[in-house]
Amino acid sequence: MTLEQEIKSVIRDVPDFPKPGILFKDITPILLQPFLMEKMVAKIIEQFKNTPIDAVAGIESRGYLFGLLIAQALKVPFIMIRKEGKLPAKTIKESYDLEYGSATIEVHSDAITPNTNILIHDDLLATGGTAIAAAKLIQQKANVIGFSFIINLSFLNGVSKLTPIQPNIQSLISY
Ligand code: AMP
Repeated sequence: MTLEQEIKSVIRDVPDFPKPGILFKDITPILLQPFLMEKMVAKIIEQFKNTPIDAVAGIESRGYLFGLLIAQALKVPFIMIRKEGKLPAKTIKESYDLEYGSATIEVHSDAITPNTNILIHDDLLATGGTAIAAAKLIQQKANVIGFSFIINLSFLNGVSKLTPIQPNIQSLISY
């Protein structure tokens, strides 16, 4: 079995979560398999072996799982991008539109070293709205050097929306 086949066999599809019509890709079964996780991290490191990464930023909350492992493997800092109101110290913010209403994400101001190259990681790329907001947040102080995802829902064309920001976009599996 290829790594791609193995990941797909472990991800759980949950229909109509969190609302009717959404097929939720549940990555939590992957966390029960440490040897699979190790192979996934190694593959992500290989995908970015020619990318000069100074830090990894993970998007709350599932982006923290592999984001932290990637940062640790690269021996670079890990930056938490959080939903508004969770971080205790001084932050910078970015707001973005959702299907209904809007949302704000933020990061501790001192977590980002100015003008460094930051890899953004999340578990899944759908429409790209979340990753674009994360990129704009990082770009207030630094550079986005790449985007990393476990899953790309390619039929939603998130890649074409991220490409103008940074074309270095990798995922482990696509649907
Ligand atoms: P988007 O902003 O549309 O690219 O959505 C990406 C964000 O929403 C990520 O943080 C994902 O964790 C979550 N997400 C969107 N669609 C799904 C899905 N079908 N299954 C699991 N998570 C999803």
